[in-house]
Amino acid sequence: STILVTGGSGFIANHILIRLLSQGHQVRTTVRNINRAADVRAMIHEGGIDPNEGLFFFVADLEQDQGWAEAVAGCDYVLHVASPFPAQAPQHEDDLIIPAREGTLRVLRAARDAGVKRVVLTSSFAAIGYGHPEQHLPFDETTWTNLDSPDVTAYAKSKTIAERAAWDFIAHEGGSLELSVINPVAVFGPVLSADYSSSITLIYNMLTGKLPSCPKLYFGGVDVRDVVELHLHAMTHSAAKGERFIAVAGNFLTVRDVARTLKMGLGHAADKVPNSESPNWLVRLTALFNPTVKQILPELGKFKNATSLKAQERLGWQPRSSEVA
Ligand code: NDP
Repeated sequence: STILVTGGSGFIANHILIRLLSQGHQVRTTVRNINRAADVRAMIHEGGIDPNEGLFFFVADLEQDQGWAEAVAGCDYVLHVASPFPAQAPQHEDDLIIPAREGTLRVLRAARDAGVKRVVLTSSFAAIGYGHPEQHLPFDETTWTNLDSPDVTAYAKSKTIAERAAWDFIAHEGGSLELSVINPVAVFGPVLSADYSSSITLIYNMLTGKLPSCPKLYFGGVDVRDVVELHLHAMTHSAAKGERFIAVAGNFLTVRDVARTLKMGLGHAADKVPNSESPNWLVRLTALFNPTVKQILPELGKFKNATSLKAQERLGWQPRSSEVA
């Protein structure tokens, strides 16, 4: 089949491209600027695949109509992975929300008009598990991030609003176009370029000693290769139509659990990884001076967990444990 993956320069999209190319599909990808194509080819080469066979580039920006019709024309499936994902909070939340929402709608409209069978949208756990009181039951796909809460970050808002807009579009204007959504927690795994994505930055900061101690935060992890497999299951499996699927490997961990795993797995390479958990008061104090730390305060010390039973039971998805990742 012919498959379009949006935003081929991204961490997850890159791994999707590698997998699809290794299966012999005709693969297309979009970049905002054609100069990025060489980087994408280099990353795919790094992943052990010939980037000059079966891969075609299209220029399209989430913030513009131009290019999307050409990119989707003749495609059977579209995997819409691109979304603004900055390491730092933006000045205005609309800087994230508008491209995420409008970009998703542009991709869906183009896909509908071109007769694409199904779009798989890469949403996020950020569209599920934020702005809620502490809950001991694991989050599942029935929950939505509470946009009325003042604690929800611009990024989580952008993912929630974009996913909601996608389901709305399918319900009212989608015609025969099908939608399936993946909601990953923090994605880890082999990095193919120096442009680290936000979740990899945490590990990187730990390994390089930039994180002096571990804030008490609960979060889920999943290996990028499993996230890829789940996108592919969601693309073709009949049971995935009209459904969202959390991608998480096992239970949520604290930052200190991750530090321990790194130390056990990497030996001396993890010498700079912190051992201790920071008291919450210290994190709150740091947040007065550091806007990035400020963003985590609403989640500080709040127990959290999520389950991927739905993807396992309905799609036969089997993620590796996050320690292996
Ligand atoms: P990256 O930051 O590596 O990739 C983001 C991609 O989106 C890049 O290709 C970027 O292009 C593209 N993009 C951003 N803004 C625009 C725009 N205006 N127009 C066109 N393309 C744009 O992130 P990931 O690969 O980690 O994330 C991919 C998706 O997965 C995102 O939707 C993210 O929300 C979601 N996700 C990621 C998680 C994670 O832990 N990594 C967890 C849960 C969800 P460019 O190279 O030009 O900047």
